[in-house]
Amino acid sequence: MNEKIDKSISDSKNHTLYKALGISQEVLDFCEEILYSLRERFEEFDRKAEYNQLKVLKAMQEEKVSDIHFNASCGYGYNDLGRDTLERVYARIFHTEDALVRPQITCGTHALALALMSNLRPEDELLSISGKPYDTLEEVIGIRPSVGSLKEYGISYAQVDLLENGSFDRNGIKSAIHANTKMIAIQRSKGYQTRRTLSPYEIGDIISFVKEINKDIIVMVDNCYGEFVEYDEPSDFGADMTVGSLIKNPGGGLAPVGGYIAGTKKCIENAAYRLTAPGLGKEVGASLGMLQSFYQGLFMAPTVVAGALKGAVFAANVYEKLGFKVVPDAKEPRYDIIQAIEFGTPDGVIEFCKGIQSAAPVDSYVVPEPWAMPGYDSDVIMAAGAFVQGSSIELSADGPIKPPYAVYFQGGLTWYHAKLGIINSLQKLTDAGIVKFG
Ligand SMILES: *Cc1c(COP(=O)(O)O)cnc(C)c1O
Repeated sequence: MNEKIDKSISDSKNHTLYKALGISQEVLDFCEEILYSLRERFEEFDRKAEYNQLKVLKAMQEEKVSDIHFNASCGYGYNDLGRDTLERVYARIFHTEDALVRPQITCGTHALALALMSNLRPEDELLSISGKPYDTLEEVIGIRPSVGSLKEYGISYAQVDLLENGSFDRNGIKSAIHANTKMIAIQRSKGYQTRRTLSPYEIGDIISFVKEINKDIIVMVDNCYGEFVEYDEPSDFGADMTVGSLIKNPGGGLAPVGGYIAGTKKCIENAAYRLTAPGLGKEVGASLGMLQSFYQGLFMAPTVVAGALKGAVFAANVYEKLGFKVVPDAKEPRYDIIQAIEFGTPDGVIEFCKGIQSAAPVDSYVVPEPWAMPGYDSDVIMAAGAFVQGSSIELSADGPIKPPYAVYFQGGLTWYHAKLGIINSLQKLTDAGIVKFG
């Protein structure tokens, strides 16, 4: 009898249900051993979640959040106390002068576009210092021609790639900054690239470096998937704008829509004038009954993020042990919730996604298939049995059907769901003969 197993799976009640859900004994045995080895990492995630939970609670208490703040405003939304208070709660959490947190910000790309378009003017230059930005921003910037891009407004773009080892290229950055460089963009998460994710501490160092060259340069950080993973956020190290989506980490799975920008008074004022209209700014924008979910989701977010991190590390350890390349690897520190797994074959990607889909609370009976999607140059398969359409803080996976046949996996509103999803994916790969035990 092996003592080094995770008791949560062998517990007889749980075991009965895992078996009833179609998981074989060999898959359960393999996962138990891996889970046992992850105890210390999980404790670390729990400690950070505790810190972030306290941070969120302290901010809500200091702002005297009350049920009156959950009321819906309509029309112009003048004097929407709940909206204004929520923005102050965000500003406290991110340690910024101000924040813009709105259902009218439709997604992460919109929040980023808003931050850029509102703070750049014709003849300014935007400099990305973390290499190629997230795919959807290529059209916002005009890297790929698009109607309404920054380029159309005479805003130029330059880029400094990360070094081979994934660090910032200080020499490159120094020589790329010139008189017109108005804003620097940094993307924390790898997105759909294979580089490593940047830590808030590394981002902080480079912000100091940039500000020494020119203290007036605005630094914007795309913080998508990074919120509450660490003790600190990029805004703790001088980022002028920290930007993200509410259907990722900070919405805690409960926010049905929305985005945020936390930053300096000046940057947020510009963003608000652009979101609504010059002269109106933050004063208008009805919250339409969204606020309770924004508050409650923010309250839940640290725990949800910890669950997603446990799922990511569990998946990395399972698949690395089976011989697949995983990014980040089984032992690396984590600065976002995304896990990439390279299967090397289309079938690997497809079976993994089937396993995630059939473990979902919503649409579990649907079988995902690769399909041509707008904006992609190959077929893509997606698994998302989500309560909120496209929400990627919920357990989800997607993979382009092209070499190296990698799947990107993230989220899980509870650790137990993420765990079942991964166990189920392994079952599908085993059933298809892609993974063999002993
Ligand atoms: C998700 C994401 C975005 C865009 O967010 P959407 O809500 O999908 O528009 C931008 N940058 C990064 C790094 C992301 O992960």
